[in-house]
Amino acid sequence: MQEIYETVVVGGGQSALACGYYLRRAKLNYVMLDDQPAPGASWRKYWDSLTLFSPAAFSSLPGWLMPESKAPFPSREEVIDYLTKYEQRYEFPIERPVQVQEVCFRDGLFEVRSAHKTYLARTVISATGTFRKPFIPNYQGAETFRKLQLHSSDYKNPEPFKDKRVLIVGGGNSGAQILAEVSKVANTTWVTLDEVTFLPDDVDGRVLFDQASARYYAMQHGKEVNPSQFHVGNIVMVPAVKDARSRGVLHTVRPFHRFYEDGVIWSDGQQEKVDAVIWCTGFGYALDHLDCMNLKDQKGKVEVEGTKAKHQAGLWLVGYGNWTGFASATLIGVGRSARQTVAEIQDFLKQV
Ligand SMILES: Cc1cc2nc3c(=O)[nH]c(=O)nc-3n(C[C@H](O)[C@H](O)[C@H](O)COP(=O)(O)OP(=O)(O)OC[C@H]3O[C@@H](n4cnc5c(N)ncnc54)[C@H](O)[C@@H]3O)c2cc1C
Repeated sequence: MQEIYETVVVGGGQSALACGYYLRRAKLNYVMLDDQPAPGASWRKYWDSLTLFSPAAFSSLPGWLMPESKAPFPSREEVIDYLTKYEQRYEFPIERPVQVQEVCFRDGLFEVRSAHKTYLARTVISATGTFRKPFIPNYQGAETFRKLQLHSSDYKNPEPFKDKRVLIVGGGNSGAQILAEVSKVANTTWVTLDEVTFLPDDVDGRVLFDQASARYYAMQHGKEVNPSQFHVGNIVMVPAVKDARSRGVLHTVRPFHRFYEDGVIWSDGQQEKVDAVIWCTGFGYALDHLDCMNLKDQKGKVEVEGTKAKHQAGLWLVGYGNWTGFASATLIGVGRSARQTVAEIQDFLKQV
């Protein structure tokens, strides 16, 4: 007889681990399937110099605080180390590398298929993140451009751009941070849809999270919600970005009109040669494995109530952004979504 798990978690990043913490505490029979060869998930793939935008204590998963960093903001390596030790501490049943190709629902059970095995489960948590789905906007002539185009998900360090003419496209924190280091070795222009807003120097992820939490609780309790003073999309003045400001490179221009073979044509018709474009234009959702259930809308999202799929009993989605739980795409925020998810799974399993 093939084993039937109470829960299969697809993914092995921070969202999956937060769920694992509560699944373990609830003593459920579960397994986690991650396609990476080692712990760390998308943090393994980020660029070399990336640091968090909050101090360690404000970047922790449930149960165990991230150890303090010597630097004001922990590095990418410190996050990977924390996730690795977190997995070891709780001895999660993680199988690696296992890529889930599809999750289908048949005869009251989920069939979670990888290339070598099909896992059967009463419930499934999808925690596959966004990193697999880099988003690049459509620009006319992009296919004719003969030079380098790279999404931030493939960017590692500024070395390949030395002495080049580089456009950095996208007005978020990735754009600001990549511009900050590439501008040290290359001639850069930062292209954004609108002017970007920089946060005050003393406002970091911790302040953003506190402010957003206060608004969230006010909304939950029907209280008056004050307008946000600071927005999560605004640029956090991490040390590298402050340094870029002091070098005078932290300014933006509006988008170019189209590409040609060797560069871009700006909206005033001026043609300019460029060597590379780095797209810091964000991500969609890595949900292809759910296609078999036909649940996705045009934006690639699944309709949810909290984290529970509205049109498929037994399926939960954790960590993809505010639409699957307030601040659920952050280390500190995902614990709340995970706790609620596992409580709902326990209730669900009592009924089936
Ligand atoms: C530039 C940048 C800076 C950031 N800074 C911060 C910060 O300072 N603080 C903070 O809290 N957050 C930050 N984030 C956000 C955070 O890194 C992500 O939101 C987070 O990694 C999401 O975790 P996750 O577990 O949901 O997804 P992931 O970390 O992407 O993990 C998903 C895992 O599932 C695997 N997977 C995907 N599909 C399958 C499949 N079909 N089968 C099996 N496995 C699969 C993936 O390979 C991966 O291992 C930042 C993000 C970026 C891009």
